Amino acid sequence: MRIEAVDFFYLSMPEVLDIGDGSQDACLVRVRAGGYTGWGECEAPPLVCISGLVCPKSHSAAWPVRDSVLGQPLDDPADIARIATQVGERSLDMLQADHILSGIDVALWDLLGQRLSEPVYRLLGYPRAYPKLPYASVLFGDDAAATLRKAQGIRSAGFRAAKFGWGPYGKDTPSEDAAQVRAAREGLGEEGILLIDGGTVWREDIAAARLRVAALQEGRATWFEEPFVSGALDAYREIAALAAPVKLAGGEGCHTFYMAQHMMDYGGIGYVQIDAGRIGGISVAKRVADYAVRKGVTYVNHTFTSNLALSASLQPFAGIEAAQISEYPTELASLAAELTLERITPDGDGFIHAPAAPGLGMTPNPATIRKYLVEAEIRAKGKLLYRTPQL
Ligand SMILES: [Mg+2]
Repeated sequence: MRIEAVDFFYLSMPEVLDIGDGSQDACLVRVRAGGYTGWGECEAPPLVCISGLVCPKSHSAAWPVRDSVLGQPLDDPADIARIATQVGERSLDMLQADHILSGIDVALWDLLGQRLSEPVYRLLGYPRAYPKLPYASVLFGDDAAATLRKAQGIRSAGFRAAKFGWGPYGKDTPSEDAAQVRAAREGLGEEGILLIDGGTVWREDIAAARLRVAALQEGRATWFEEPFVSGALDAYREIAALAAPVKLAGGEGCHTFYMAQHMMDYGGIGYVQIDAGRIGGISVAKRVADYAVRKGVTYVNHTFTSNLALSASLQPFAGIEAAQISEYPTELASLAAELTLERITPDGDGFIHAPAAPGLGMTPNPATIRKYLVEAEIRAKGKLLYRTPQL
């Protein structure tokens, strides 16, 4: 097969709110080859990705990403790796290239899985997919009382684990933040697995993060996620050393394998959280998962958008039995909630499973795409570089 088309679609809610919810718009990717269609999603602002897909080249290491993908042979996983290498070399000086490649890589795996009649995790070398324990992933309430109600709702919905993040946490006083953690623990019950996400709120301010640690220990949080931005390795290592038994979690901001590797080797994290829609796709995420196993770090998917992205995020660690906990967004904007015809839902025992269908097992709903599609055009030098593709 040869890659015949690489199409990006810009989807958006009518109004995008200033909250930490990445499901309010979507950069949907469609790849076609040999009569098959693969789908993926970039976890990045859509129009920025589209411009990097099609922009005129600036020099020999700043090519538009599409030029390294269109027309390429695609018959086995080695072809996906070769395409990634070519994008890395020819778009070296375009920082958005990893984000753009992520959605394309996901779509290529989906397409190849359909062609070879295998779920993606089997193409990655896993004989089987193990059940994952989903944690309900939500934003903190505006105050402790609201967080308590959210946690109670999550518990009564049958979830055994929940993550609270962003919102006012870290922007309030340490005592208000502590009340938020207590409320989450109370609502979840003594047995629930409680995860707290700082959402990079302290950037690299170790003193500010240190003031929150005792409440996390008292609340028996399993992990303390992203107190700092990805790459603030000294800050991560210092808080990791004093937060035990609470472990540090991070990595969703990583957009290369090396960034994730450094978080594990030098940041002292116990959980590495990887977004396949950002780190360079399923291919790079699998490489991180393999490395995490060797380093004794637990791999966790990061995903806060559609079930297409959720399926992509599960593939890289589907076959690692010990890495059981997995992110499961439960507060999606309608765009993301309605994007796919199929859904990944917890089974009777409360576990989720990577789809057993060929590829990623997720079909975008054309009606949803039409409903949220943003028509866009990019022109330069009198030429039309991009127009919203036909569905
Ligand atoms: Mg997070």
